[in-house]
Amino acid sequence: MSASTGTHVVVVGGSVAGLATALALAGNGHRVTVLERDAAPPPANVNDAFEHWDRRGSPQTRHSHAFLARLHGLLRDRAPDLLEALFAGGVETLRFRDMAAELVPGATLLPDDDEITLLACRRLTFEWVLRRHVEGLDSVTLMSDAVAQGLLADPAGAGLPVVRGVRWSRGPAGPSEDLAADLVVDASGRRTRIADWLTEIGAPNLRAESEPCGIFYSSRFYALREGAEMPSIDRPMAADLGFLKYGIFPGDARTFALTLAASPDDAPLRALFHGEPFDAVANLLPLVRPWVDPALSRPISDVVPMANLHNTRRFLVDGGEPVALGLACVGDALMHTNPIVGRGCTLAFVNAYALADALRDQPFDLRAFALDLDARVERELVPWYENVRTQDRDAIAVNELLRHGDDPHAMNRPDGSVDPRAMMRAVVRDGLLPAMREDMGVLRAFMRIFNLLDEPADLMKDPRILTRVMDSYQRRHDRPPTDQPSRSQVVERLAALAA
Ligand SMILES: Cc1cc2nc3c(=O)[nH]c(=O)nc-3n(C[C@H](O)[C@H](O)[C@H](O)COP(=O)(O)OP(=O)(O)OC[C@H]3O[C@@H](n4cnc5c(N)ncnc54)[C@H](O)[C@@H]3O)c2cc1C
Repeated sequence: MSASTGTHVVVVGGSVAGLATALALAGNGHRVTVLERDAAPPPANVNDAFEHWDRRGSPQTRHSHAFLARLHGLLRDRAPDLLEALFAGGVETLRFRDMAAELVPGATLLPDDDEITLLACRRLTFEWVLRRHVEGLDSVTLMSDAVAQGLLADPAGAGLPVVRGVRWSRGPAGPSEDLAADLVVDASGRRTRIADWLTEIGAPNLRAESEPCGIFYSSRFYALREGAEMPSIDRPMAADLGFLKYGIFPGDARTFALTLAASPDDAPLRALFHGEPFDAVANLLPLVRPWVDPALSRPISDVVPMANLHNTRRFLVDGGEPVALGLACVGDALMHTNPIVGRGCTLAFVNAYALADALRDQPFDLRAFALDLDARVERELVPWYENVRTQDRDAIAVNELLRHGDDPHAMNRPDGSVDPRAMMRAVVRDGLLPAMREDMGVLRAFMRIFNLLDEPADLMKDPRILTRVMDSYQRRHDRPPTDQPSRSQVVERLAALAA
């Protein structure tokens, strides 16, 4: 293998991770063929994409999506033409300086604050622009209705199997054909069949770990009515009530989406899979009510549910050795986490550029390339994966306590000792969250981590932030009681509706 022009890479999956990989590799002079199982080509324009594009291979395309500042910065630095195309397609920016001005009036801004700029757009808009951009690159061929069926490889023998291409078919039942490659990249998403494909070529068992995120997702899109303005963002656009998490995601073309997420074990809340209960609960939430007011907006989609969400990681390098040579995984196929943190597309791009950089730096040695990529993944992606897993384990515990009528913030144990986890939850709820509305330093530090610009290390390890948060916590009794509904109020509303 050589990184010169002429190296042929086959990418399985033409969604965000696959397209990002093609873009990054094409930028380094490689020839790329993308195989995408879905047959439908991108429709004529963004609005048709939202209404009609059949993307059943990536069902989350019809859910709320955040596009974080780390992605905005990466595109600005490495794919400015794509960023321009996104803006030309109607994508807008969400700037920290505007949010901060409304959330903490009179706040002083720093020059670096412009780094905290997110993209506001629907997922289908993002993918539509990305796909057309990548299809327009000379060195990329994108084949729709092209289903990868397995890997072509040299026999494992005494060493590792070496992947030489992909077996694929036109449609799921077409005759199979061989496509040779110097490198195969699996970007086929969370339901990848890579473990089976590796077994078929005699590779060692692929190690994977997976655990539930503890939530299901329900999303609905809305359009602002003519002449209506987006509500002021002087209050947060997301909240975690323990039993219910929710967020508002501004989009392109005067749209926004609302997601409600709850535990699959919380039987009454599973009603949120349906339109009427979804609307009823949306109207109980003070931060959401102004957005879904029929005078301001109208729904432009059904309520779309998604369950069975997991935090999952696959180990293409295990115990210091690749499981096969000439193969890499990117995006959700490599690792994915709770979608509520909105990181998947951003990390898919980080992953794609890490792969292109590893190939640039290790052009002649498949093993060195695999190890180089793995080191980048450990550095750039794994900390975020671990961070979500830790948060989700605690969120699941909180949820269970609430369902049993217990207080997850009650820190004093019967034996007089303090429960450190309950204490931390109380400090986050009554210290960190209010401090973000009162103190620019805390808001900035939180937003930089939320946007993947700073390490996910515990925010509270910074002594300056900790002092401000604890100061805010000490003042917790001075604040008015929360206006958020309790779980029993939500359950009662749902029961009344069902009756
Ligand atoms: C409910 C939900 C909400 C989310 N919200 C956010 C968010 O707010 N922000 C964010 O950044 N991320 C979010 N994500 C994650 C984000 O959608 C993914 O990380 C992102 O789509 C990258 O995925 P991917 O390209 O790896 O896989 P996918 O998008 O799943 O795409 C895989 C592609 O591979 C194709 N394919 C599969 N098998 C084959 C085969 N055998 N041959 C050929 N093609 C094949 C499929 O058709 C599909 O197009 C969310 C995810 C979910 C589930």
